[in-house]
Formats: sequence, structure tokens, C-alpha cells
Amino acid sequence: MAQHDAVIVGAGFGGMGAAIQLKRLGYDDFVILEREDDLGGTWHVNRYPGLAVDIASVTYSYSFEPNPSWTHWFARGPELKEYAAHVADTYDLRRHMRFGISVDGARWDPDEQHWVVSSSDGRSVTATYLFTATGFLSQPKLPEIEGVTDFRGRVLHTAKWDDSVDLDGKRVAVIGTGATAVQLIPELARRAKALTVFQRTAIWVTPKADFAIPRPVRRVFARLPVTQRLARAANSAWLEAMMVSAVLHYKQAKVLNRGAAVLGRAHLRRQVRDPELRRQLTPDYSFGCKRPTFSNDYFPTFTREHVSLETTPIQRITSNSIMTSAGETKVDVLVLATGFSLWETNFPAIEVVGREGRNLGKWWRDTRFQAYEGVTVPSFPNFITLASPYSYSGLSYFTTIEAQMRHIERLFGEMHRRGATTFEVRDPANAEFLGRMTEKLEDSVFTLGSCATSRSYYFNQHGEAVILRPTSTRNAHREAQRFPVDDYAYG
Ligand code: NAP
Repeated sequence: MAQHDAVIVGAGFGGMGAAIQLKRLGYDDFVILEREDDLGGTWHVNRYPGLAVDIASVTYSYSFEPNPSWTHWFARGPELKEYAAHVADTYDLRRHMRFGISVDGARWDPDEQHWVVSSSDGRSVTATYLFTATGFLSQPKLPEIEGVTDFRGRVLHTAKWDDSVDLDGKRVAVIGTGATAVQLIPELARRAKALTVFQRTAIWVTPKADFAIPRPVRRVFARLPVTQRLARAANSAWLEAMMVSAVLHYKQAKVLNRGAAVLGRAHLRRQVRDPELRRQLTPDYSFGCKRPTFSNDYFPTFTREHVSLETTPIQRITSNSIMTSAGETKVDVLVLATGFSLWETNFPAIEVVGREGRNLGKWWRDTRFQAYEGVTVPSFPNFITLASPYSYSGLSYFTTIEAQMRHIERLFGEMHRRGATTFEVRDPANAEFLGRMTEKLEDSVFTLGSCATSRSYYFNQHGEAVILRPTSTRNAHREAQRFPVDDYAYG
């Protein structure tokens, strides 16, 4: 007999969404295991200066738990952390959470018909159902640069920010120009004496229509929730056109992709006069090959006297400098905005062993990365994996979570209706889904665009861009509500 009905690994927005769904289904005996010391996932871990969401908050939130009090159209990091706490309290999730527990593996016990979930402190817990909500960007990556461990000044990875490090009047270097660096660099420039940004690959940046939401508008959102729902619908539709269709339906919507690229170039032209600097900041790959971002103060930062952009490749890092063939840059504080390790360590983030000893990570690597509707995997009974291949739908993570919640609702509803306690997706259903997604990817910018120089983390070691579900978000939600229940075996 299992100790719990369910174990959820991860107390971020994904894990909390799964927990809310479990409660709606009538479960109360479940635990949420979290390696950090508090809830919030990304929004607890990331604390770097300038942290904000780059999807408007009306969209970047649960549709069933709107927050009329957002102070900005794009909420700042601490506000998202507060929102996460609010959700945990509203849905009574805290009492299920266990912090400081680093889960390192889970194994299906076929005799007991339950999961044995083990943590790095040597303890284990058993549960009938296992949910992994470990996020996509949860394993910080150090750059593979010679000498990176030799540096004797302060080193800060953006996902392990230390506020006590003094940046004022210092010579600061940043390695990386992804979405994180785009937010951080303008803030660092305000404090550093000299700031050098080492860019390997330029990023597409479009304007950010950010503003403080006036109090009267917030009051209207609170009193007339339909107004916030309309704002959400309008913003989500815009994102779907510019950021989803333009990328995933590239073949049919090339004009949108070109439009987004024109917007990015015009934004750069308006903000940077120096043609050489503009050339360096212009991506040489199609819009959407890697995740684009939004900012109004990133490009102008490079026009400031004490900020320089270095595009010559780094040769090595010494105890107090960064060396390129163009010269040496002396550095007091080294900031690694080098992102996260996805394909090496995050798919899956823990070792998961299913029926007949099938090891999920090994199986994905030996065959192809795959998950039926981005949620379940054959030979892994009673297992829901939220950070899966083809699971990410739309640009806001909440569209993904809510589609997955719907899938869980339908699946568990059917299981209960049949009086069953186990489920497992059937091989043919999984193969059909994988085949269909593979075919749809043929229409995307990843296949038809020019992505060779993008170094995008969307692509895995097999050269496949399988994080994003290559369909509209509407299709993802429709299938979550209507998938054939016989795609699963129940027992
Ligand atoms: P990232 O997009 O993976 O960017 C990492 C950066 O580090 C890239 O510019 C990369 O260059 C560079 N880099 C890595 N290793 C390097 C090396 N050895 N030498 C030189 N440069 C190196 O990571 P991120 O900026 O942390 O963003 C990750 C994701 O987080 C984003 O794509 C986005 O999904 C999410 N995010 C979201 C928000 C939001 O508001 N919603 C904000 C921030 C981040 P290459 O491109 O050449 O590899």
C-alpha cells in the first residue's frame, strides 16, 4: 500500500497547477517535494536585478486565478513570487509542500503498483501517482570556457544571484546575451564602472509595451473581471500571431515571421545609430529559431560610454580577466548569464525507471524524445511528466500548464469512471502523436528557416526542436479535453 496517493516533484507553477487539479479530482493525500527552501520555482530561484516576466501578466497567470493587482503590464520578479504564494494559500497547497528535499530518482514497483521516489538524503516515499514538475530551465549551466574555474574575483550565475556582491564602481563582465542577460545588462550598466558584454550569438529583441497599470484600471479589473479576461484574450491572440504562428506555422505564416524580424530590426535602428554596433547586435538567423525577447533599454545600453560589446570569441578566463584574440579585459565581477542545461541533464531532471526497467532518459536518448500529448509515456504507468517533449504550448507557460491540467482531469476522470487505479498510454497512440508532431514540425521555422547559426536550446542532441508543441494553443487545449480515452490502458 502506497504511503500517498501522489507525489509531485517541484513547487513551481507547474507543480501547483497539478496539485490544484488533484484537489479538484478529490485527492488530498499528496506531497509536493521541492529542493529549494520555498515555493515559486523559477520565480523563487531567480533574483537577478531587472528580473521581470516578458509575457504580459494578464496572460502569464492562471486563467482561473486572475490577479487584478498587477502593478505593471509585465510584472516584476518579486510580484510573481507573491502571486505564487497567493495561489498556494488560496488553494491550500502549503501543507502539502516539503522543502529542501532534492528528489533524485523514482522507480515503478510492479508488484506494489506504486512509485518509489527517493531523495538525495537517502530517504524514500511511495505513491500511487507520480507527477514531475521540474521545469525546463532549472539546471544552471556553466560555460565550457577554459579557465572559468580559475577566476579569483566574484562569479555570479544569474540563477544563483547573490545580492550581497558589490557591483558599484566595479569592472563587470557578462557572458551571454539570452533573455536573462537582456533584462540584467541595463541594470548592471547603472552600477558598474565598466561593463563588457561577451556575445556569442545575437538575440532578436522587439519593443516591450510595458507600463504601470493605473490604480483605476486595477479597480476595474477587480470589480469587472470580464475586463481583465478581455485584456488577456487580446494579448494572448497577439502573442499567438507574432510568437507562435510566426515560428511554428512558418510555412503558412511567413509574412508574420518576416514582420516580426522587420519589427526587431526597426527597433534596433531606432535605438542604435552606429552601423557597426547595429551589425553586431543583428541576429544572423531566422526570427524564432531561439526564443526572442522584448526590451526597450537593452540596445541603448550599448551606446553608453562605459559599456562595450565584445563579439570576438573568448579564448580563456584567467584569475582576473577574460582573454580574446582582440585583447584582455580586466574584470572584478564575472556574471554568467549562460542559461541552463536542458538536454544533458533536464530531460528528465531525475532518473525515472518505469515498467520492465525502462529508464526514461536512456530511452529518450536511444530512440527519440517523445511524450503523448506532452504528458505521458508508454511503459511508465501512473506517471505524468510536465516538462516533456512537445509539451510547451504557446509562449506563456500558463497555457501549457492549463492544457496539462485539462488532460489530467479527463484522464483521471475516465480512470475513476472505470473503477481503475492505473493508467498507461498505449504505444500506438504515442506513436501516432509523435508522427503527427514530427510532420507538423516540417512547417516550422526550425525546419524551413535558417537556424544553423542560432545555437538554440530548442534543439536537442538529435537536432530536433521538440520542446514546443508545433500546433496552435487552441489545438493543444482542444486535444487535452477531447483525446480518445482509449489511447490509455486502465487497470
Ligand atoms: P539562454 O537563452 O540559454 O542564453 C544563454 C546565453 O549564454 C546565450 O547568449 C549563449 O550564447 C551564452 N553562452 C552559453 N555558453 C556560452 C559560452 N561557452 N561562451 C559564450 N557564450 C555562452 O539563457 P537565458 O538568457 O538564461 O534564458 C533562458 C530562457 O529563460 C529564455 O529563453 C526564456 O525562455 C527564459 N527567460 C524568460 C524570461 C521571462 O521574462 N519570461 C526572462 C529571462 C529568461 P549562444 O546563444 O551562442 O549559445
